[in-house]
Amino acid sequence: MIFVMSNEATQQQLDAVVGKIKSFGLDVNISRGTERTVVGAIGDETKLDQSLFTVLPGVEQFMRIVKPYKIVAREGHLESTVIDISGVPLGGKQIQVIGGPCSVETQAQMDESAEYVVQAGCRLMRGGAFKPRSSPYSFQGKGVEGLTLFRNAADKQGLPIVTELMDIRMLDTFLEYDVDVIQIGTRNMQNFDLLKAVGGINKPIILKRGMSATISEWLMAAEYIAASGNHKIIFCERGIRTFETHYRNVLDVTAIPVLKKETHLPVIVDPSHAGGKAWMVPALSRAALAAGADGLLIEMHPCPREAWCDADQALNPHELKSLMGELKGIAEAVGRTI
Ligand code: PEP
Ligand code: MN
Repeated sequence: MIFVMSNEATQQQLDAVVGKIKSFGLDVNISRGTERTVVGAIGDETKLDQSLFTVLPGVEQFMRIVKPYKIVAREGHLESTVIDISGVPLGGKQIQVIGGPCSVETQAQMDESAEYVVQAGCRLMRGGAFKPRSSPYSFQGKGVEGLTLFRNAADKQGLPIVTELMDIRMLDTFLEYDVDVIQIGTRNMQNFDLLKAVGGINKPIILKRGMSATISEWLMAAEYIAASGNHKIIFCERGIRTFETHYRNVLDVTAIPVLKKETHLPVIVDPSHAGGKAWMVPALSRAALAAGADGLLIEMHPCPREAWCDADQALNPHELKSLMGELKGIAEAVGRTI
């Protein structure tokens, strides 16, 4: 059972609801989002006498949510959520494409990338300063210096930035750099302490799907963030592991309509890490938008063959721009803009 408090509810009214739930022997989870406070009753709900809650002041709505993921479920929030990313809406009619290199390399590379991202018509930029690499001997990212390079380049173009957080100890630094969207990568989808930590801040979070995660596990991972108070969560399908070895991962297109049904939160797709080859990116992008994705996360490098990481899958600036043009038609066909 969840209780949605009205915006005007006072602390006393909230305390009264919490006290009431506890008096029935249940535990309570309070999730304070920026727009609404949700009180979840945890335990045997059959012990609750619903009629009591209708008369409690400050409660706008209460409902029994059958799903184990209470806050992220569409069941309790029929309207799709639009997340404001430093002025750029994600989850509404307008599709957003987040473009940029796999990793931050140099100031010149980031400056050029930012210019190309804008020229292509993208409103958000990606770039990794901390890189989760399979080998400890591969380039691990520029770290904090990378955040500086990224911030400088993006600020010149007025672009909000998306970058991956791997370690809780860097969270304060990410906040100091005012990272606009914090990405939780596939390898950390079930790093529950990290999820709780980003649940405690007021920044949009891109939650990538674990490479072998089921939809339920993914939704529950998002619920960890939401239960800690941050409701600004963006799901990102980036391909899953299967028996197929012909390409890097299998883009699970089915996950898009399924997630849109299960959750009110935005769903985006990363075709770059799915296919693993630049030539596959346009086809996978078209499929994603046709299936209802709210946005795309695409790797682009000013000179792909020189990229320090994921060179094979990076589009060049010209390819990104022409893909953006091509995607206009798909967006229109599904009643959206780009
Ligand atoms: C990335 O987007 O840079 C990345 C490492 O992706 P993933 O976590 O999906 O592998
Ligand atoms: Mn990459």
